[in-house]
Amino acid sequence: MSRIAFIGLGNMGGPMALNLLKAGHELVVFDLAASALKLACDAGATAAASAQEAVKDADAVVTMLPASRHVEGLYLGNPALLDHIASGTLVMECSTIAPESARKVAEAARAKGVRMIDAPVSGGTGGAVAGTLTFIVGGETDDLEAARPYLEKMGKSIFHAGAAGAGQVAKICNNMLLGILMAGTSEALALGAANGLDPKVLSDIIAKSSGRNWATELYNPWPNVMEHAPASKNYAGGFGVDLMLKDLGLAAESALNARASVPLGELARNLYSLHSAQGNGGLDFSSILNLYKKR
Ligand code: NAD
Repeated sequence: MSRIAFIGLGNMGGPMALNLLKAGHELVVFDLAASALKLACDAGATAAASAQEAVKDADAVVTMLPASRHVEGLYLGNPALLDHIASGTLVMECSTIAPESARKVAEAARAKGVRMIDAPVSGGTGGAVAGTLTFIVGGETDDLEAARPYLEKMGKSIFHAGAAGAGQVAKICNNMLLGILMAGTSEALALGAANGLDPKVLSDIIAKSSGRNWATELYNPWPNVMEHAPASKNYAGGFGVDLMLKDLGLAAESALNARASVPLGELARNLYSLHSAQGNGGLDFSSILNLYKKR
């Protein structure tokens, strides 16, 4: 069993770390939030006083942070975590960040002899808890194979998208589609409800018809249609509006860089931006329904 440093124990990192613990690994964890640290330590992890302390003598490192600035700040900032990670150590960077950031950090890691892959995930907090995440990897094949035994403890499907940064490109495409689908599903359910339908009945119909998607199958935005969805918990936990907004921003940047057109992605970005500006940035992204729902 390995000694793993796990940094970033939020809605996703917390349950991912628990699955590595359950698999018998020794976990040394760090998060800026004491409450997140406590949950992991209650389950058997050891808290480090800093990220630098966490990576000391680690066989592998996993990071699960909000955005590019957190990842670049951690690995390349002052102090730079890369200066504290031993040469040859495997690093799985699982946050969703800009492909350029992923490449920049991976290049700096390579220059120090550290093996790094970008391994953003899909599957939501439910998938993180159940250990059924999809990992979308960018980096060297050998490094992915070294990471596979760890990733398999946290996920069910592992894809190699290409070289460093490619995992992020694929993840951004997926999340742009997810943002569009969640807004579209909300729009359809609100239209039905405004015309007198029961949203639960309409959801059951769509789930077995051609409009079905991940939201109607697993993550319904209407409260109390699905007991375990964030919509039934006042949109707490889950995947934050501001994180979705970040991903739609990354999609817009990628489109600009590649001269690609993403009209629906841009529209979705504006919808989530409006929703966030109304004070909903910390709610789960399925709360976009409230933009459509008649009061
Ligand atoms: P979160 O905000 O719940 O957790 C992030 C954690 O990182 C927090 O606990 C925060 O305290 C910690 N943190 C920030 N900077 C840190 C630092 N320098 N050192 C140590 N800890 C630090 O976010 P999340 O929902 O867990 O998402 C994490 C990443 O996974 C994001 O990039 C997100 O886009 C992606 N993601 C989220 C979901 C989801 O459903 N929530 C699904 C797939 C991917």
